[in-house]
Amino acid sequence: MSQHANPFESLQSQIDGAATHLDVSGDVIDRLKHPERVLEMNLTIELDDGSLERFTAFRSQFNGDRGPYKGGIRYHPGVTRDEVKALSGWMVYKCATVDIPYGGGKGGIVIDPRKYSEAELQRLTRAYATELRPLIGEDIDIPAPDVNTGQREMNWIKDTYETLEGTTEPGVVTGKSIDSGGSAGRVEATGRSTVSVAREAFEYLGKEIEGATVAVQGYGNAGWISAKLVEELGADVVAVSDSSGGIYNEAGFVSRDVKAFKNETGTVSGYGEADDELTNEEILTLDVDLLIPAALENAIDETIAPDVKADVISEAANGPITPKADEILAENGVHVIPDILANAGGVTVSYFEWVQNRQRFYWSEEKVNDELEQVIVDAFDALTDTYETYDLDTFRTAAYVVAIQRVADAFEKSGTFP
Ligand code: NAD
Repeated sequence: MSQHANPFESLQSQIDGAATHLDVSGDVIDRLKHPERVLEMNLTIELDDGSLERFTAFRSQFNGDRGPYKGGIRYHPGVTRDEVKALSGWMVYKCATVDIPYGGGKGGIVIDPRKYSEAELQRLTRAYATELRPLIGEDIDIPAPDVNTGQREMNWIKDTYETLEGTTEPGVVTGKSIDSGGSAGRVEATGRSTVSVAREAFEYLGKEIEGATVAVQGYGNAGWISAKLVEELGADVVAVSDSSGGIYNEAGFVSRDVKAFKNETGTVSGYGEADDELTNEEILTLDVDLLIPAALENAIDETIAPDVKADVISEAANGPITPKADEILAENGVHVIPDILANAGGVTVSYFEWVQNRQRFYWSEEKVNDELEQVIVDAFDALTDTYETYDLDTFRTAAYVVAIQRVADAFEKSGTFP
């Protein structure tokens, strides 16, 4: 993974690239390239042995022109201020690409959560929620899970917020467990959109998804669900990886069995049905029809991009391809379905969860999946319309053209204050 690509600079260069095709003034574009505010926190908690430890944490509220700030919370040792800023910006353009009424935000804590007990993580999450309390709320800023956080952390944040506020407000966070006000279908939503857009793109490009070969980098929530759903469409998941390495099987894995093995052992490496073990780089450069990067940013940089042989890439992860790598892939005819559409299922079902929380009326999983399918297919159609109308080089630029125009319209029509 490239150490040098700064994700915030990647975001800004993606916006600049799309802005050249738009009739939006330079000063508005400049505003749309920077977060409205970023909070940096020092969270000090007591560890189980009685000692204290300080953790650095962030929350970036990038843009609220189209609705409340919305975005996940990441627990990872590599979290930086610029990474959080970039991720919060991608949320703005993601929500606009799928046309849901949110702005964008993101948060993170610099921590390797595997080194801490559940009780320590609970104290840290509650300390974080306490700091965030004045800045969040169902009409203000709505956190959600991201890497290394999930239903458990969202339930703790909701409980901390409701306790301190003396209220019931399940819509303050999304991605909760069902019994704490979560939505059916939320856990699968990111992988579901990743696979739905891949299916649409294959159809658009005149290719068959049935029988296609697929490699998935990252076997967490987004990766394993993508593998499972693409397998259900009749594709062969020939390679998967996680942070410990990758595995290959020419005939295709049964995704569920690989997941069961990972649940037991903590990794996909050593899975008995594999023909071969692969490095991270080998996974990304395999000759497959579809590649799904579902780990972290900058997985494909300019050193790997020339060797990528996939026909289509559906970005389950946020920012897995650097701008330089993107140019190389476009020159080589690799079609990339950008993260701001491909993984937008997560935030779309978060939106459905929030709607259900506000109405205190809950939908079936079938309804959630049907509504999600409609949102994603409509967004893919808007993207390809723009791709053709503006004669653009990449799907990514088309998505940003659609999204920036929507955010700029919302800003300009509201007028400026003060
Ligand atoms: P997760 O923590 O469940 O899974 C991450 C996976 O990536 C793990 O299997 C980990 O081992 C693997 N990984 C880490 N470094 C790797 C490397 N160098 N090579 C191969 N694998 C590696 O996280 P997640 O929720 O699945 O998120 C993955 C990506 O999807 C992130 O970029 C996240 O921002 C994005 N995303 C997730 C959601 C969601 O709803 N979960 C929504 C939108 C976007």
